[in-house]
Amino acid sequence: MDSKKDGIGSQKSQVMTRRDLLRGMAMTAGALAVGAAAGISPIGFAEAGKCPGMTPKATLHYQDHPNGAEHCAVCTNFISPGCCKVVAGPVVPAGYCLAFSPKVA
Ligand code: SF4
Repeated sequence: MDSKKDGIGSQKSQVMTRRDLLRGMAMTAGALAVGAAAGISPIGFAEAGKCPGMTPKATLHYQDHPNGAEHCAVCTNFISPGCCKVVAGPVVPAGYCLAFSPKVA
């Protein structure tokens, strides 16, 4: 049976695997290491408009609204004012994705 005809193939392609998450986090760690070697802090990335996150938003089901109380502004991966250590491109403080990790008070 052709999995594309019954929609199973297309569903599988939208599910993030643990491997996807680890790959994205490894790429981000690499980008941060390069930035550190170049003397660029994560805040410097945000100010320069070049966010270090490399995982596509779709992979982590990023949304520009909160998931209950969970949102970027209270996530350890958030870089104010609008970057993320994991997700590629700009994010908003009220956003949310599957890599959310709460800041420890
Ligand atoms: S919730 Fe997701 S997009 Fe927002 S800062 Fe955390 S990891 Fe990044």
